[in-house]
Amino acid sequence: LFAGNTDFLKGVVAMDGLPPADRIEVCFAGRSNVGKSTLINALTGRKGLARASNTPGRTQEINYFTLLDSHYLVDLPGYGYAEAPLHVVQQWQALLKSYLQGRATLRRAFVLIDARHGVKAVDEEIMKLLDIAAVPFQTVLTKSDKVKGKDRDASLERTRKALANHPAAYPEIILTSSEKGDGIPTLRAAIASIEA
Ligand code: GDP
Repeated sequence: LFAGNTDFLKGVVAMDGLPPADRIEVCFAGRSNVGKSTLINALTGRKGLARASNTPGRTQEINYFTLLDSHYLVDLPGYGYAEAPLHVVQQWQALLKSYLQGRATLRRAFVLIDARHGVKAVDEEIMKLLDIAAVPFQTVLTKSDKVKGKDRDASLERTRKALANHPAAYPEIILTSSEKGDGIPTLRAAIASIEA
């Protein structure tokens, strides 16, 4: 799945812009700066495919990528910008809700959590939305190269505890480092294992 063509398809700002729901879809969500763009680039082996949007006003697009012609990989806008204007936050929440509840072909969400910081209140909000929309989600700890030994275990344990409250959560947590390549094959395998 990841050996073939991966391409940017389009950026979507409203539900009517979504491409036809004709293939398996997975989405990636996470706080801004969690390492989402870097992870998508590492997954697809294409540097610069996903670009971090560091402008709060520009965080609204849902970016669609194609994996071969069988899957969509969806990059949701990063959330949790302290400085984002309220109307931008509300607009994004509305789009996100519609997307999560209305996208029948969405098979799994990957919620990215910085291994150093753990699950924050904004992450909890996304997880609750996923519970309500009944979208199974898998948690990916990012930047694992920045936590070592006991701290890494503690981070995993804290995350596990947070997930216990979420019916839509998969118990398996994937620990990744885009820098070192750790966990990337596991994440690829998780996506490839999703059946139509
Ligand atoms: P996004 O806003 O979630 O798309 O975050 P980015 O992918 O732009 O990453 C934010 C920052 O974290 C950048 O400076 C990256 O170089 C850094 N970063 C991303 N992934 C890793 C990682 O696995 N390890 C380390 N040490 N830094 C990372």
